[in-house]
Amino acid sequence: MPNGYNGKILHVDLTKGKLEIEEPKESFYRKYLGGSAMGMYYILREMPKGADPLGPDNVLTLMAGVATGAPISGQSRLNANAKSPISGGIGDSQSGGFFPAELKFAGFDGIVVKGKSPKPVYLAIVDGKPELRDAAHLMGKLTGEVDDILHKEVDPKAEILQHGPAADKGVLYSTLVSMSTRHNGRTGMGLVMASKNLKAVVVRGTKRVEMADSKAVAALNKIGPKAIPENGDMDGLAKHGTAVVVLFNNTIGTLPTRNYNEGQFEGCEPISGEKMSETILKERDTCYACVVKCKRVVEIKDGPYKVDPKYGGPEYETLGTFGSYCGVDDLAAVSLANQICNEYAVDTIACGATIAFAMECFEKGIITTKETGGLELKFGNAEAMLAALNQIVRGEGALGSILGQGSERAAKIWGKGADECIITVKGAESPAHMPQAKRSLALIYAVNPFGADHQSSEHDPYYEDGVGDFNLNRLKQIGLGAPQPAYSLTEEKVRFAYETEVFYSMLDSAELCQFVYGPTWTLYDGEQTAEMLRAVTGWDITLDDLMAVGRRRLNLFRTFNAREGLGRKDDKLPKKFFKPLVGTGPTTGFALTHEEVDSAIDAYYKLAGFTANGAPTRAGLKNLDIEWAADYLPA
Ligand code: SF4
Repeated sequence: MPNGYNGKILHVDLTKGKLEIEEPKESFYRKYLGGSAMGMYYILREMPKGADPLGPDNVLTLMAGVATGAPISGQSRLNANAKSPISGGIGDSQSGGFFPAELKFAGFDGIVVKGKSPKPVYLAIVDGKPELRDAAHLMGKLTGEVDDILHKEVDPKAEILQHGPAADKGVLYSTLVSMSTRHNGRTGMGLVMASKNLKAVVVRGTKRVEMADSKAVAALNKIGPKAIPENGDMDGLAKHGTAVVVLFNNTIGTLPTRNYNEGQFEGCEPISGEKMSETILKERDTCYACVVKCKRVVEIKDGPYKVDPKYGGPEYETLGTFGSYCGVDDLAAVSLANQICNEYAVDTIACGATIAFAMECFEKGIITTKETGGLELKFGNAEAMLAALNQIVRGEGALGSILGQGSERAAKIWGKGADECIITVKGAESPAHMPQAKRSLALIYAVNPFGADHQSSEHDPYYEDGVGDFNLNRLKQIGLGAPQPAYSLTEEKVRFAYETEVFYSMLDSAELCQFVYGPTWTLYDGEQTAEMLRAVTGWDITLDDLMAVGRRRLNLFRTFNAREGLGRKDDKLPKKFFKPLVGTGPTTGFALTHEEVDSAIDAYYKLAGFTANGAPTRAGLKNLDIEWAADYLPA
């Protein structure tokens, strides 16, 4: 019996209705650890070049990690990968909750899905036995309703990962969601699963994860409750959720406001994590075995915007995109927007940012009430924001169907300079951390294989002068020890961006939560991450070994993108980021320059060992012991 993992990958061919179980060797798990690195092993081999993202040839992988389900914080994560219908490059997205651990308890480490079922089905895996079942009765239902039906039908304790009704309406940024609250949110993975006529994956099992050294795991786990109150970042996260950074980002001028034109929002207090805790917070929620409990559950019983606690509560990104991006300072309205996104399963970042984009187009006269169907889609109009959202998720009217394709495609349809209002990279709307101020994020937003992402590297304040010994000592573990001035994009800052990107890339392979394991402020540092994985698996692995896994994942992503025709031309930031920020605050007037971004991209490619077009080389892949992937590089 292997430690940590089950040694079983389930292959599902929906066209043939065939289910097969593969038992990979231990060396396979050790090389990839799980998550997206493991998913890419199958995607590159099994998906033909040029596959239609919404056709049967796309391959969707759902992978846990070698420690998923172990009794320690921050391990219950699941990665979804496939060709993204948004970018045509690789899609990648992680979620937490209880589904990932339950998948392990049900007997599998991951699932590879290909083909297309002739009719809607769901995959049930109960105690090691997979089965495809009819899903006709689930179609068109809200995510919470589907959860209720499948809990009765399969097992009250089953965990359910599903696409929602928005995907059936073709919303491009549809998600996969479990617990009706935990999303594989970005890059359109919900639409991919819907295109395969696979409605849901339901897992239930009684197996438990075997560990090489359960005493060492228990000892590490005990650190959590003591360390959290002593660590300001962790304490804030535990008390107020990710929403704790609303006020911090506003203070440093990186709370995107009115579609990313300003870095401070005068209405930030009413939508802050502190205000949520004081007013509508019903309870804190968690992922399997995690002591941090950063998830929010809110409830609003009265007033115009009632909110059902069944659908959780807003994260920072949601408060940003539906709040400050849209100029809306009404916490109840933003919480209801969060609920609607959870009921229909759409990405709150893409959706809120797309509505903010439409608001700017409306304010500039690029669109009028003719295009909005009568909506006064102005910044600050919460009613109009919610009306637009309802049209998007239901696929109603011209406005709903256009905005359901995201801001980049909407800008092409509307023309008249609408492209000046987009904030997308590879089609993905930018998250609520502004690269004009956090300049290393400008680089990562540009080069990240699946578009602008705030969870793919560490943020600048942790590598700026005066960062403090706690964070600096941790960064030294991965060879970073020379903090840089604020707002700089020096070569050393590029190195910081790349090495922390590699660390985060490893976390998204081992499937570890980035709020628990990380290179700076988190509960466990890099060396402790390696210690935990050693204790679970029994392998003699070092932090360097783990970093190699992170490099493998990035190289596999880049190999896939190169094969699909993506390269340097796609590592491109939106025009808006090069225009000075307006409004008031410490970042007013800030803009990126093309020179600094271009030279940072050059330096990044060199550090990573990529070609001038951003592709891996055969030699680089060989060094990482994944030479097989070179067969998929373009000639
Ligand atoms: S820190 Fe938050 S997101 Fe991460 S595992 Fe714990 S509860 Fe889940």
